[in-house]
Amino acid sequence: MKILMIGAHQDDNEFRCGALAKKYVDLGHEVTFLSMCNGCGGHHILTPEETTATRAKESAKVAELLGITYDVWDIDDCSIVADLETRRRLIRYIRKISPDLIIAHRTIDYHADHRAAAQLVQDASYLLIVPHECPDVPAMKTCPVIMYFEDRFTNPEFKADVVIDIDTEIDIKLKIADINVSQVYEWLPYTNGQTVPDDPKERFEWLKGMDITPETTDEEVLAAQRGYAVRYAKTAARFRKELIEKYGVERGSKIRYAEAYQVSEYGSPLTEEKKKELFPF
Ligand SMILES: [Zn+2]
Repeated sequence: MKILMIGAHQDDNEFRCGALAKKYVDLGHEVTFLSMCNGCGGHHILTPEETTATRAKESAKVAELLGITYDVWDIDDCSIVADLETRRRLIRYIRKISPDLIIAHRTIDYHADHRAAAQLVQDASYLLIVPHECPDVPAMKTCPVIMYFEDRFTNPEFKADVVIDIDTEIDIKLKIADINVSQVYEWLPYTNGQTVPDDPKERFEWLKGMDITPETTDEEVLAAQRGYAVRYAKTAARFRKELIEKYGVERGSKIRYAEAYQVSEYGSPLTEEKKKELFPF
């Protein structure tokens, strides 16, 4: 299968579906990450050019670690517009990959780039199969299944139609965060007013946040303030009911880390048969 994950920025796909990407690659499927933006806006000290170059290097490391293809478009941060030109660029791009599954943002989001990227995927979705639209690239026969990766926005609330146990991928998921030095140790702490330890080992512990053990309760996880281990544990705590429904009480109640996905109405329907085929985990 071919899986295309579309984020506005370099970290959107990594942090939200990095473990799922790893699972697909391990089964021999092809995964592509697209970041529509070049990352230029995400730093407080580096110039936009330096930030773009730094992010490109970090993304190349992520691609190597996961065994995926990683495309970065040349759109500056905070500059994605859901216009006709960008829509057609996306239609051509998706058709060339011809994915079975697309995972992208919801339009419910705080960031203008996330909303515009989500809108572009929605706008492109039906047109993927329309031959007279962008006739230079053959139209797809059927629209792929489209899913949204998890967010925390509540109006309307994200719905976990598919939940994935990522306990075996948590180390690689934390490693992905650790690779994104300019994001997780520099830019994001700057925006949140946090101080990061200098020592690489200490800062990695800081990155993880609270130690999640088999005894840690969902209430403790949900009350924890920060950290990437906490962030991924929160998904399991938040969607415990869905995890138990899928994996049974024995396993579902013990899962520490999860990723969650919602079905988009604008792609092909995710039938039970299709769900088994696309998410064999
Ligand atoms: Zn983003």
